[in-house]
Amino acid sequence: MAPGFGPVTITAKVIRRASGVKLHSVRGRMVAKQSVYVADSTGGIEVAVWSDLIEQVDVGSTYTFSDLTVRRFHVTSVTTTVQTVVMCCDEVLSVNEAPIEEEAASKTMDVDEVLQFRCNSVSSCGSCHKMISEVGENVCFVKCTVCGMRQKVKNLAVKYSCIMNAKMANEVKKLVIHNPVLTDFFDKEGLEFTDNDSIEEYFLVCSKLRITVIENEVTDMCIKGESGPVTGGEPSGSVVALMQSKFCSDLPVTKDM
Ligand SMILES: [Zn+2]
Repeated sequence: MAPGFGPVTITAKVIRRASGVKLHSVRGRMVAKQSVYVADSTGGIEVAVWSDLIEQVDVGSTYTFSDLTVRRFHVTSVTTTVQTVVMCCDEVLSVNEAPIEEEAASKTMDVDEVLQFRCNSVSSCGSCHKMISEVGENVCFVKCTVCGMRQKVKNLAVKYSCIMNAKMANEVKKLVIHNPVLTDFFDKEGLEFTDNDSIEEYFLVCSKLRITVIENEVTDMCIKGESGPVTGGEPSGSVVALMQSKFCSDLPVTKDM
């Protein structure tokens, strides 16, 4: 996580939960995740709740969720982390009951063919989190030019950003795939790649890709028929004023759980 970008704590009432629990592979083990939608008097937000914490939240109750990290695609949402503690507390009296911004036109579609695919990636130092621009091929170690720490290339945090031209329903669309969606997909499908060329080639020959999109942004991907049903159109939370003021631009997104 980038320096100066700390975890957040919110106290809010659970308005509803998403149907179904999804299983995600996180560092080699399967972990359950479920989205809940919470609100206080200022607004609402989606909280991705992981693992044992899912059992701890009931619709209609108010909780304090500590140590959440913030994610941002189209709308801001938060996710629990291993540090998160969920504590029941007194009812929030005036909850804004219509706070949750429904995501505009989220559609789930099958991709007929990926025509072009571009995968860019940046690596960041495990110590100071600054970007490491030059990582040579077939090298085991790299020295951070900012903090001077030498480290194993395999331990660098890699963040991808991809663009694809996908043919769907006789239409070609240019779509953006951000790092969390891509790495989520790799986890779900058990995929590992050593370089960006392999990622690009994987998608070019991938014949069963099913994606959920909002405008030109991919928000979820799976391989048709192998993963569970796509829960497309899950509404996400609107931006709570507090978060909007605190986190205004695109945020660094880390692998959370
Ligand atoms: Zn460094």
